[in-house]
Amino acid sequence: MSVISELSKIRNIGITAHIDAGKTTTTERILYYTGVSHRIGEVHEGNTTTDYMDQERERGITITSATVTCEWKDHRINIIDTPGHIDFNIEVNRSLRVLDGAVFIIEGVAGVQPQSETNWRLADRYRVPRIIFINKLDRTGADFYRAFDTLKEKLDIIALPLQLPIGIEENFVGVVDLVEMRAIVWEGGELGAKFNYQDIPADLKERADEARQLLLDTALAADNEAMEEYFEKGDVAVATLKRAIKKGAISGEFRPVLCGTAFKNKGVQPLLDAVLDYLPAPDEVEGIRVAAEEGHEDEDPTLRRLIKIDPQAPFAGLAFKIINDKYGTLTFVRVYSGTLKSGDMVMNTTKDHKERIGRMFQMHADKRAEIKEVTAGDIAAFVGLKDTGTGDTLAAADDQVILERMAFPVPVIDIS
Ligand code: GDP
Repeated sequence: MSVISELSKIRNIGITAHIDAGKTTTTERILYYTGVSHRIGEVHEGNTTTDYMDQERERGITITSATVTCEWKDHRINIIDTPGHIDFNIEVNRSLRVLDGAVFIIEGVAGVQPQSETNWRLADRYRVPRIIFINKLDRTGADFYRAFDTLKEKLDIIALPLQLPIGIEENFVGVVDLVEMRAIVWEGGELGAKFNYQDIPADLKERADEARQLLLDTALAADNEAMEEYFEKGDVAVATLKRAIKKGAISGEFRPVLCGTAFKNKGVQPLLDAVLDYLPAPDEVEGIRVAAEEGHEDEDPTLRRLIKIDPQAPFAGLAFKIINDKYGTLTFVRVYSGTLKSGDMVMNTTKDHKERIGRMFQMHADKRAEIKEVTAGDIAAFVGLKDTGTGDTLAAADDQVILERMAFPVPVIDIS
């Protein structure tokens, strides 16, 4: 597998929400489904979601960890914890810096709440590509369309539905997928197809047809080639439409919206698909810039040297979170360039001293996996760094580069 195709299979994302909107539940469900994806052969029909959830709870799930790594359809998704509480804005700031994309969860009853607005503005500042998940559609009082309207009113964005709900409150059973034009219905957390697109109720069908047209008009405007294909053939292939949606999502022209209920396990698998389809891989964002020299903090950041995501270049990474647990101190590092092996010496260029890298790990839901090396675009947790703090740059031993502390990788618009 080439290095680039490896990179294309990584997503570094955050999940952010107003408190109680369902961030924890959604993360749990993601870990459940991505765990299942490894062991699909062992999952029997009768082995319900709930059984597994109980086991997860007993294990004291690692979602409180700084990052969790999971696998979905041959891709690796690193979920970086972004604290949601309002007084953690410094933390949110810090973690947004290392994200390539984010999932914004809003509530199906209340819609956009104040804290979502705050986090949204922060994500704007760092130009983080985003997809939106309207959660809790099973709750009494839930209204997808009203919640959807609050996106436009409070966030002043072009929100673009990729799905519409089938039923609502206790009758919420699934979604119409407007991209692939199919109905997805869940039973007991398992995907089941009860009816197809042609058979959805007439009033919903009308709405879905309208929403599909809006999707085509809006998404294709983000991609000239896709637009040409549409005019030539009168329709576009699913892959073409997905590419156009991804372009628009990365540039922020519009924000794709999905929906469901994490708690009742409806909508989580398509959300994971959307992370792969519409949020960028590490090499689809521009990279990170070196820090401004003292006295030059106000200069145009684009004048400063850009560190591109390049596994062949000298090593450079940012320590973005440090946690102490029963195993000792874990330093989470986002690697921007080069490759680092355990045992290597690195230079902490922020503090101007050398340290040796000990063991390194990736954190999975139920275990930590030791790895021998970590490459540009990826994230790893290092054990035993003694004098490295949050925000410090680690670089190749003979290098002096210091990475921008607060700047976020600027999206590359052209991803074709
Ligand atoms: P967080 O504060 O954003 O992490 O929210 P949690 O995931 O802890 O959820 C807050 C509460 O809402 C918990 O009691 C969850 O069980 C509940 N909850 C989360 N998602 C859903 C959902 O889709 N439907 C319903 N009815 N409740 C949910």
